[in-house]
Amino acid sequence: MVTLPTGFELAPQARELILTWTDGEVTRHDYTELRRLCPCANCEIERDKVRQSMGLRIISGTRPHPAAPLLLKVEPVGRYALRFEWEDGHSAGIYPFAFLREHRLE
Ligand SMILES: [Zn+2]
Repeated sequence: MVTLPTGFELAPQARELILTWTDGEVTRHDYTELRRLCPCANCEIERDKVRQSMGLRIISGTRPHPAAPLLLKVEPVGRYALRFEWEDGHSAGIYPFAFLREHRLE
């Protein structure tokens, strides 16, 4: 059976999206992380550029990245994904449910 989100809640103070699912799970998602993982073609190209410019020098440890814009709107796309609308007008990313289940805060 496919697990679908039954509801969502935006927590701008915590910068988190909270999703509830048909199997009773509640998952939390950090705005910055969601935006960093944006699956749209443009963001994919940007990530490739960053990877190429880093070459093979992979630096371990966490590097702080700038805070993502606020998430303003969540919209279902068919029965497989959610589309997010961000404060800066970006809304091209379509996040499949399975992807959201995987990329969650513990
Ligand atoms: Zn994007």
